[in-house]
Amino acid sequence: MKTYTVNHHSATPDGRVLRDFDAIKREHLSRGYRDVGYHWVIERVNDILVAIPGRAEWDVGAHCPKRNYDGIAVCVIGNFEKEFPDEELYQFTAEVCRNIQSRHPIIETAGHGDYDNTLCPGKNFDLSYLRKLIREGSKLIDDVKITIKGKEIIGKLINGKTYAPVRELVEALNNTVVWDSSDKSVTIR
Ligand SMILES: [Zn+2]
Repeated sequence: MKTYTVNHHSATPDGRVLRDFDAIKREHLSRGYRDVGYHWVIERVNDILVAIPGRAEWDVGAHCPKRNYDGIAVCVIGNFEKEFPDEELYQFTAEVCRNIQSRHPIIETAGHGDYDNTLCPGKNFDLSYLRKLIREGSKLIDDVKITIKGKEIIGKLINGKTYAPVRELVEALNNTVVWDSSDKSVTIR
């Protein structure tokens, strides 16, 4: 039974266009493994985040001796000793972990370094933030309360950026908005 997810990084930069998964699999096979050691690999291919399945989730992994039997390995491509995962990558990884939790009685989202003397998944990979995202669900789009000179309007948080309806925002600032439908432009006076 699988009761842990164990997060790793590849400690290599994302090739972006190429599937880094293939290089990792080749390398693991050359070490004598019967398959890639991880269950999932997350990376950008042609700049789109994908989760590539490695070993079947129920299969014994080859990634962390103490958790190979009861852990599902999620490897995120990148070197998070040097770079920082962006918001999109955290959200995507959380989604993959939540998906795993829908199939297995996971009791802990762990990092490789919890069990071995390794820097993996890197000091810049914030596991507590990942756990929070897994718990709370996706927050890619959410309502935000914006108060302007005592007047409240509702904006949207989309992927870490706050958006507000222009007319309400500008009128709260006592300016006027002119909408020109001929060229779809907005002028603030
Ligand atoms: Zn690792």
